[in-house]
Amino acid sequence: MKVQENISLRPYNTFGIDAKARYFAKFKDIDELEELTTHGSRLTTLILGGGSNILFTKDYDGFVLKNDITGIEELHEDSEYVYVKAGAGENWHHFVLYCIERNWGGLENLSLIPGNVGASPMQNIGAYGVELDDVFNSLEAYHFHDKKLITFTKADCEFGYRDSVFKKKFRDQFVILTVTFQLRKKPIFHTSYGAIEPELERMGVKELSIKAISNAVINIRTSKLPDPKLIGNAGSFFKNPVVEIDKCQSLQSKFPGIIAYPVAGNRMKLAAGWLIDQCGPDKTGTSWRGFRKGDAGCYEKQALVLINYGNATGKEIYSLSEEILLSVKEKFGVILEREVNIF
Ligand code: FAD
Ligand code: NAP
Repeated sequence: MKVQENISLRPYNTFGIDAKARYFAKFKDIDELEELTTHGSRLTTLILGGGSNILFTKDYDGFVLKNDITGIEELHEDSEYVYVKAGAGENWHHFVLYCIERNWGGLENLSLIPGNVGASPMQNIGAYGVELDDVFNSLEAYHFHDKKLITFTKADCEFGYRDSVFKKKFRDQFVILTVTFQLRKKPIFHTSYGAIEPELERMGVKELSIKAISNAVINIRTSKLPDPKLIGNAGSFFKNPVVEIDKCQSLQSKFPGIIAYPVAGNRMKLAAGWLIDQCGPDKTGTSWRGFRKGDAGCYEKQALVLINYGNATGKEIYSLSEEILLSVKEKFGVILEREVNIF
């Protein structure tokens, strides 16, 4: 276990931001974590997974601890589910593929999401109509100050739309060490969402399987989203805003093309990408989509994704997000919330 000082975090965040960490170390089990947190007990601490949902706007004047706890274990099974525990440091997509190979169903729609298993409960990751909540069983987390290991059930996590207790009242208090999933022995297929069915058809799939769905999702994502290895980004920068039905109806009458879906509580979810697409940096009608200022920009295929063309600073990306936020507020009266964690 090596503690490094003043190192660049560039290799550790998919935005490719060159911020420095005052101290940095990796841990691969709870003993190493305990030792490190004792060593740095007076420092503010940031737990890092794959760095794919983070924007560093300045150097981190504290201790960055990279969670490298690995391991996948089949715990037990019942008539419906197999219960599988994975270390927080396991790469998410590798874990998804591991389960698909064994025909354990539930994760296929969540294929190719960057990052690690440990961060998946943080924002209740979701894509193509499935959320972590649908496959989650429990997790083990270590409390920084009490130095206790606590098990969280699904109810304890208070999952919401890209949200959990770890983003709110327990923010920065726990380190997630392992996550246990309950996966279906007889998979249920979710293909009704957006582009999945057309892609399955294009692929010529005759017999549906979780592998085929995973491949379809991989194809769609590869064609639409920027690969962080090639261009810096953290996926969707903002959440899709959820508004009251009245507000949605009034927007629909003014902007008939607006994209909206019903969600729980008789409310409507608006597609943030569409809202951003209708706004721009000036009054000339130019859209944010494809916009570039220095090395900070808005991805040409999806306005919801902010990108770093190479040497943008976190402050530049953040200030672009601020301009976008204000333009959407001015045009639609809707306030976007950032999904990416800002440090
Ligand atoms: P990090 O960025 O390292 O951390 C994110 C937050 O979680 C930080 O606040 C960090 O402190 C905290 N954290 C991380 N690990 C732990 C831990 N073990 N214990 C406690 N706190 C921890 N997200 C989706 O929901 N759906 C998508 O479809 C999706 N697509 C994406 C596509 C692209 C191209 C990219 C770049 C990102 C996408 N994301 C998506 C966002 C991101 O991949 C996920 O949120 C992912 O779960 C983040 O994992 P990570 O390990 O990189 O987390
Ligand atoms: P898309 O399919 O173009 O759809 C645009 C938006 O409309 C999405 O945000 C989605 O909401 C919503 N939507 C589409 N069909 C829906 C349906 N049948 N029911 C309810 N909502 C629907 O979106 P995309 O940008 O290509 O992304 C595809 C999927 O990957 C989405 O689920 C998206 O969340 C996920 N993704 C997430 C990130 C991230 O960083 N969080 C990055 C890339 C992709 P939802 O977002 O609620 O699904």
